Amino acid sequence: YQGLAGRSTNEVLQLYAAHGQQMKLQTSSVVTQLHGAIKKRLRQDLKSLRSFALEISKDFQRQSKTFLYQVLAAVQGIQLQNEAMQMFQIKAFDLEQSLQEVTERYEKEKQKRKALHNSLIELRGNIRVHCRIRPLLPFDDAAGHSVSQDRQRNFSEKAAYAADDETILVKCSRPGHASVNKTFQFERVYSDLESQDAIFADVAPLLTSLLDGYNVCIMAYGQTGSGKTYTMLGPQLEGNLAFAIEEESELGIIPRATQEVFRLISEKPPGSYWVEVSVVEVYNNEIFDLLAKDSYGKVSGVKRDVVTTREGKSDVPLLTHETVENASEFLHLVNKGLQLRVTHPTLVHAHSSRSHLVVTLTITTVVFGDNFGTLWEDEQTSQRLNKEASCIFPQKMRDSKSTSSSRASSPVQLEATEKMKQVKTRLQLVDLAGSECVGMSGVTGAALRETSFINRSLSALADVLGAIAEQRAHIPYRNSKLTHLLQDSVGGDAKLLVMLCISPGQKYLTESMQSLGFGTRARQVQRGQVKKKNFPVPSKGK
Ligand code: ADP
Ligand code: MG
Repeated sequence: YQGLAGRSTNEVLQLYAAHGQQMKLQTSSVVTQLHGAIKKRLRQDLKSLRSFALEISKDFQRQSKTFLYQVLAAVQGIQLQNEAMQMFQIKAFDLEQSLQEVTERYEKEKQKRKALHNSLIELRGNIRVHCRIRPLLPFDDAAGHSVSQDRQRNFSEKAAYAADDETILVKCSRPGHASVNKTFQFERVYSDLESQDAIFADVAPLLTSLLDGYNVCIMAYGQTGSGKTYTMLGPQLEGNLAFAIEEESELGIIPRATQEVFRLISEKPPGSYWVEVSVVEVYNNEIFDLLAKDSYGKVSGVKRDVVTTREGKSDVPLLTHETVENASEFLHLVNKGLQLRVTHPTLVHAHSSRSHLVVTLTITTVVFGDNFGTLWEDEQTSQRLNKEASCIFPQKMRDSKSTSSSRASSPVQLEATEKMKQVKTRLQLVDLAGSECVGMSGVTGAALRETSFINRSLSALADVLGAIAEQRAHIPYRNSKLTHLLQDSVGGDAKLLVMLCISPGQKYLTESMQSLGFGTRARQVQRGQVKKKNFPVPSKGK
């Protein structure tokens, strides 16, 4: 400012402007320099950024290519797998179909084989044996043996199974030994799950042959508590020997067979068939007529005897035969008779029956003359004949029914009435007494006597079967009242079905094996062809 002193304002302003100009020039050159440097730096950065981006994009392209290949390979793999899967599905479907076809064919063949087997049985006069395993029940656990707790537990285990519907498998295990499996074959084996319905379904066809002129006998064999009475009659009423009629689905073979017989009869011309019933108990080798009435008309078991008629048939003279019109009449009658059954509680089962029960249905068929049978197809004639049959015939028959004897002995009876014939066929339903050994039940005294009678009668039955099997000239029917009474059924004239009843528990192994042995021997018996009653005209469908 000293330089400015004394100068005019104009000069000062000029000087000042020149100074500003200079300053301006200096600043702009610095800015230009800075700008150039920044530009250069930016260009470098951009370049390296570009090359970095290029690198990244190349890398990305490479990687995505690899991934794409991988994805493609995976997709191809999946496609291949899908195709293979489809192939497998097709194959599985084919296999399933052919399996179904084979199963169907197998079922058909099985049915055919069964039918052939049945015909073979009939031709040879074989005895059919079916085997039913009952379920394990609470009383199987109850103590009743002098065995240790440990063995007791083992004892209540299951030892008998149905391997298939013709094979029973028994696991035989003894302490200290490896268990051995034994199998037995029968015409049919029922598992513990099979119902009374299923059992009856196999019995029903036999009943059809009853009306076609064959005698039929169904008997239950097995130790006490194995389900014989349950199978034959149904569950027993508490503390009573009668059975529960109300529980339809639980009914056993005897009530169902009766219902079926009446159903079959209802399809025939009315009045051409009628049914009589007898109920007999074999106790301590004595025969009791459970339908006999005392002088007051009350049912009281009366002792009867069994004889052999001149024709070589067995017969019980004076045995009560009651005519029944329907199944419920029959059931009430049998239940009344059953209340007389003699029993003794053993340690095995409190309500065991210690006697053999034989319920017999005698079916009488009225057939008219030589050719009348064919005329039954004709409505009018049928009606006329039915009228005759129900007017003349049954009247005469029924009047004499209760005291009649020896009727069972002459199955084909020719009555005096011209052209009228009556044919009798018989359905015997037998609930045998328990087959256990004496030691097993721990019985003494009177009960021991009972047991020994039971054992003797059952071994007599086995002896008879043995003698028939060996075709011996003498068959020892008369060694026991039981075999004498059942002679015609066991000896060859009837279609015979033995229903083996098996308790599944390990502790009953000895008894079960004994029953299975009996059944196996019974199956092998050949009695010659089962005979058909001599109907004048063959019935329909035969
Ligand atoms: P058994 O006549 O051989 O001495 P039961 O028929 O009296 O034997 O049967 C003994 C017990 O087992 C009875 O209480 C009976 O109801 C029961 N029982 C038998 N078989 C069966 C079964 N298949 N299902 C259910 N309970 C059964
Ligand atoms: Mg019984």
